[in-house]
Amino acid sequence: MRLLLIEDNARLATLIRDGLQVQGFAVDWCDNLKKVELLQQLVQYDLLLLDLGLPDGNGLSLIYAMRRRKDMTPILIITARGELDDRVAGLDAGADDYLCKPFQLPELVSRCRALLRRPGASLGTILCAGNVLFDSAERTLLVSDYPVDATPREIDLLEHLLRHVGHVVPRSMLENALYSMEDEVTPNALEASVSRLRKRLKIAAANVQIRTIHGIGYALFEPR
Ligand code: CA
Repeated sequence: MRLLLIEDNARLATLIRDGLQVQGFAVDWCDNLKKVELLQQLVQYDLLLLDLGLPDGNGLSLIYAMRRRKDMTPILIITARGELDDRVAGLDAGADDYLCKPFQLPELVSRCRALLRRPGASLGTILCAGNVLFDSAERTLLVSDYPVDATPREIDLLEHLLRHVGHVVPRSMLENALYSMEDEVTPNALEASVSRLRKRLKIAAANVQIRTIHGIGYALFEPR
């Protein structure tokens, strides 16, 4: 899952970014609204973490602008206490949730997860193919009803493939979803993750197959 953190306090931003990265999220950080526009043209984020008081304006204007163009990317406002009016205005403008500073990282992480599984109405929280079952809310993977361990990145990768069973998922889409701008994405980073995931599935006797579609991407197939 790829997140964009918009926060002008560098120290806080670093803490948040590191905390989320440990949990397996890919996080890009920017400290003003102008940059957000540029980044949004390059990347389809899964979630925005938005501070309201930014050097070049109020984060509210971003929420209004996104919702006006029907961009429904979840937005979590992170704001200082005392800005109650802003918080209410933020929710009214179309933000999905807010968190008051100072907050504990575990709470931020769980709010993020909650927001990321919200579009579940259309996506479904349980994904399965063959004997593989993935709970996208709990982030748990079962093969033939037995739990299988995998890293957060492998889990993300599997989720993307499961959401497009039988169809090719372009590698650019996977790279965008799995890595932030700061991650050093070597040409074979994705291959390495795919190969580890394949190995895990094989050891667990999963009957799905992840095929490499040369020059395009990857596809997960169910047994015939
Ligand atoms: Ca600020």
